[in-house]
Amino acid sequence: MIAVSAPSIAEREHELVADAIKSGWVSSAGPYVDRFEQAFAKFCGTRYALSVNNGTSALHLALMALDIGPGHEVIVPDLTFVATANAVAYTGAEVVLADVEPDTLGLSARTIAPHITPRTKAVIPVHLYGHPVSMGPILTLAAQHGLKVIEDAAQAHGARYWASRAGSMGDCGVFSFYGNKIITTGEGGMITTNDERIYQRAFQLRGHAMHPQRRYWHEEIGYNYRMTNLQAALGCAQLESIHQFLQFRRVVFDMYRTGLKRRPGLRLNTVKVWAESSLWMVCLEYDGFDQGGRDEFMAALALKGIETRPYFHTLSSMPMYEREPLPVAERKSRIGLCLPTHCNLSLREVSFVIDTVNSLLDDLEQSVPERPAAQAAAQE
Ligand SMILES: *Cc1c(COP(=O)(O)O)cnc(C)c1O
Repeated sequence: MIAVSAPSIAEREHELVADAIKSGWVSSAGPYVDRFEQAFAKFCGTRYALSVNNGTSALHLALMALDIGPGHEVIVPDLTFVATANAVAYTGAEVVLADVEPDTLGLSARTIAPHITPRTKAVIPVHLYGHPVSMGPILTLAAQHGLKVIEDAAQAHGARYWASRAGSMGDCGVFSFYGNKIITTGEGGMITTNDERIYQRAFQLRGHAMHPQRRYWHEEIGYNYRMTNLQAALGCAQLESIHQFLQFRRVVFDMYRTGLKRRPGLRLNTVKVWAESSLWMVCLEYDGFDQGGRDEFMAALALKGIETRPYFHTLSSMPMYEREPLPVAERKSRIGLCLPTHCNLSLREVSFVIDTVNSLLDDLEQSVPERPAAQAAAQE
């Protein structure tokens, strides 16, 4: 089976993790934690980076560091991994869903604006599948309404909006280092910020809110959201290779882009002129799936030994967040899927995926002559 994603673990990772184990510093104290945080802050171009045990904790901690809680509303995109909304729910604030743009698949000032109320305290743009949202207009809108901005960059390590790295533009950024992300620590996460107050507050809450001058004295309920030295050692090794990882993803994407036959109604990732995507996933959308058939298409690929994944379900379709569907998110979640995108793919494997997708789409086009794809595209 050609996996849809996979981590790249090499000699250097073995070396640094072994070093961490040999040193005896296996929990969250230890030199690799600081080293990873400093290297990651430098990579993102932020003053601070605070490591945590996973990306969901990073979101939760970022929200708490911004004093978000009951009585507040936080705007999140309808199309994202569920953690973005769950972290808001943990704080007691209300999750408000906004639609996404058809090209970036993320929030925009246009889709956020109608949802702003006097209770809105923050917005969490998600750089979905590694493509940054258009941050400039969102930051302007947020400043006008006094909203905090948390960038969910869990899929977008190294992506850029103009010259700025994902995670460096909002009040804070959050990252995940789960096994299928751009770099991994097994489980892990990071908060990036330029704001010392946010950093200090998140630091405090991460470690049981222990009093900085008085050991084992606590004046509020904190959390244990720390990353271990072992995880950080893995992270340090991964970060050394991140530019190669990002480069390889571009090569893979270019192969898909040139190899997949152009046909009406078929689109791969849009990459805006102002954007550099981390290309977390090569995304395929096909208008021919409007009437269904996406899941059957994925099943046919699986039979050929190719693993894919569907776009996320919309949050508004889930019981906890159920409400009126938002049209763009709803349609994208129906017609989109992700093709194998990772750094262990051989170029032969990518070619095989391309040939298989081309031939299955040829079959599909021929099997629905009563509704040509060209007509569907014209309606778009
Ligand atoms: C992976 C991911 C998260 C959560 O990260 P975990 O490390 O799995 O907790 C949050 N948001 C998005 C968009 C993600 O892709």
